[in-house]
Amino acid sequence: MFCVECGNDVPIFRNGVCLSCYLKATQFSKGPAILDIVMCPRCSSYKYKNTWLRETFDDVLKRCVKDAFTVNPELKHVEIQTMCKEQERILACMVFISGSLEDQMITERHPLTVRIRHNTCDICSREAGGYYEATIQIRAEQRTFTNTELKTLQNTVETLVEQFQASGKRGLFITDIAKKREGLYFFLSEKGTALSIAKKIQEQFGGDFKQSASSAGMKDSRQIYRMTYLIRIPAYRKGDFFSFDKSFFSIVSLHANKVRALELSTWIEKVIDGKDIQPSRIYGGKELVKEMIVVSQSKNEIQLMDSKTYTTVEIRKPKTLSVETTMMKTVKLDGYLFLVP
Ligand SMILES: [Zn+2]
Ligand SMILES: [Zn+2]
Repeated sequence: MFCVECGNDVPIFRNGVCLSCYLKATQFSKGPAILDIVMCPRCSSYKYKNTWLRETFDDVLKRCVKDAFTVNPELKHVEIQTMCKEQERILACMVFISGSLEDQMITERHPLTVRIRHNTCDICSREAGGYYEATIQIRAEQRTFTNTELKTLQNTVETLVEQFQASGKRGLFITDIAKKREGLYFFLSEKGTALSIAKKIQEQFGGDFKQSASSAGMKDSRQIYRMTYLIRIPAYRKGDFFSFDKSFFSIVSLHANKVRALELSTWIEKVIDGKDIQPSRIYGGKELVKEMIVVSQSKNEIQLMDSKTYTTVEIRKPKTLSVETTMMKTVKLDGYLFLVP
């Protein structure tokens, strides 16, 4: 058969013409020559149909091209590819639209100029305006925080915020952090997530949790409330030694209002109410631990030597502990010496 267009003796594709003549006369896709994409200059989010997306430029461009271009439904399994070159204030792109027409693969190319428009996104304008819905206050009970504690607490809150942001809480940010003598204040943009963060802090550091609301004026004829989540970190810390009820303990772990503590003369663990640990009965933490040389031991007793003064001391062992090491950790509290695991 001869193609009525080119006159060649080739297989006829449709309407009496060969495939290459058919394709020459048919355009399967079309779209604009210029496309505007809005980007936030602060956070590099892209605006797509009234929402802001934290996606790569390629992904956003693909979405926009898909919407702006029309593709003939005869073309099946359509795929869109883009290639862009940055030029002054614009991107010179080539859009490739490919698909199959019956069993023929077809690719059409469209030059496209992409203009990047700058516009501050909703979240960044809130952030710049000092917006916040909740305060997390972390205070220490009857003491002030050490610098290390302040750093740990701040890192923990910041890491939690990053984790929530990464899991899709795009509207979450820390507006401000205030360090005061009595504690740390975090101003956060989302009260719901701020509550989750406050709960996690309490889980991790122990202590008391309280929440309160305060009015922050009216918006769209509705009362707006700001939340305050207060965590009172206890006076004691993990690893601290304290006395209670004529016994001596070291803190193994912290839980909301309770601690798991090791009774030092028996090495038996006990759960104690945090309220029962009086700040004046806390001796300190691992800075009190001293290593001593094991001289000898019997079933119930152990003889230890101070490595500096060479004085020896004999104390009862917790349980029927058999000491395998040549050194043992000890702590002296109120004149009593104890073995520490
Ligand atoms: Zn032809
Ligand atoms: Zn932004």
